[in-house]
Amino acid sequence: MDIKKEFSGKTKDNKEVYLFSMQNNNGIAIKITNYGGIITSLSVPDKYGNFGNIVLGFDDPLKYTSAAYLQSCPYLGAIIGRYGNRIADGKFSVAGKEYTLIRNNGPNHLHGGASGFDKVVWEAGENQTGGSAVLILHYSSRDMEEGYPGNLDVTVIYSLTDLNELKIEYEATIDKPCPVNLTHHSYFNLNCMNSNILNHELYLNADKYTIADDTLIPTGEIVDVKDTPLDFRNSHSIGERIVHMDNGYDHNYVLNKKTGNELTFAARVTEPLTGRIMEMYTTEPGVQLYSGNFLDGSLSDAEGKIMNKHYGFCLEAQHYPDSPNKTHFPSTILNPGEKYSQTTIYKFLQG
Ligand code: BGC
Repeated sequence: MDIKKEFSGKTKDNKEVYLFSMQNNNGIAIKITNYGGIITSLSVPDKYGNFGNIVLGFDDPLKYTSAAYLQSCPYLGAIIGRYGNRIADGKFSVAGKEYTLIRNNGPNHLHGGASGFDKVVWEAGENQTGGSAVLILHYSSRDMEEGYPGNLDVTVIYSLTDLNELKIEYEATIDKPCPVNLTHHSYFNLNCMNSNILNHELYLNADKYTIADDTLIPTGEIVDVKDTPLDFRNSHSIGERIVHMDNGYDHNYVLNKKTGNELTFAARVTEPLTGRIMEMYTTEPGVQLYSGNFLDGSLSDAEGKIMNKHYGFCLEAQHYPDSPNKTHFPSTILNPGEKYSQTTIYKFLQG
C-alpha cells in the first residue's frame, strides 16, 4: 500500500501544506492533509459495493484557512488539542499555578483555543507497517502556546488497515505538567450527505453520561442514561428522540470499561439505506456525541453538497469536558516523564 503526496500550497506564514492519499487493498481510500491533520475525505463501500465519501470535507486543504471557514469554524475532520472540548471560564490550576486561556466559546475555552492543533501545520512522514500505509504527523507545541504550560511533543499516526479500520494513535510528552486531551473531529454521514444523519441508527456502549449546564460544562454529576433520550444501549435512530434534546446531541458519555484505559468497543452506527456500518473502539474513558447542531449551511463540500444542521455526526473519543476543574473525573494532567497515549479505531463494514 502506497501513500501519494501532493503539494497543495502554502499558508500565510509560508508553511507547506500537502494532501496525502492512501488506499487499502479493499479499495477504501482516505485523504489527509498536514494542515490540522484534517481528514478531507474517506471513501467506503455501501452494501452494493458502491464507494462514496462519508466525511464532511473540502477537496483543497487551503479552504480550511479561508475566512468563510474560520468564521463558522466547525473543526471538520481535524486533530483537536491541547484540550478537546471545554474548560470552564478558560481557567485551570496545575502544580499550584493558575492559568488563563482564551474564552472562544461563550464563557468557556473550547478545543485548544484560537489556534489549536486543528489550525497548525504538522510535520508529516510516511511509513509502512505490517502491510498498512501510515501517515505520521508530528507537532511541537511550545511552552505557553495558547496559554498552556510546557513544551508538548505530539505524534499522531493515521493508518488504514486491510481490516477496513481507520486507526488513530496519539502519543505525547511534555516538560511541565499540563492538561492534555486530544481527539479527532470528523463529521460522518454514512449516506454521503444525500440526507441528514437523523436516520442513522446508533448503539453507544455507555450506561452513564456527564450532566452539563447551559454552556456545556459538566456539573460534576455522572448519571444514568436510563429513561432519558440519551440512552443508546439499544440501537435507536439519532433522530428518534432528538426533539427532546433542545438543539440536538452534544453530550459526553462515560464508556463502560473494565479497567480504565483498555481498547473497548464504544459505538456502532448503521445507515439503513446504504447498509454502511461504522464501529468505534477507543482507549479513552469518554466519547462526545455531537449531532452537527451548529452546522449552519454556510459551507459546502467538494461535490457542492451543503453542510446543513444534522448533516454529520461526530463521535469524539476523549476525557470528560472540564476535567482539569473536576478532581473526581479521570485526570488529564500529563506530567514530565509520562507518556500520553490513545488509540481510537473507526471500522467500516457493510450490512
Ligand atoms: C462540541 C460542540 C461544538 C463543536 C464545534 C464539538 O466537539 O461538542 O459543542 O460546537 O465541537 O464544531
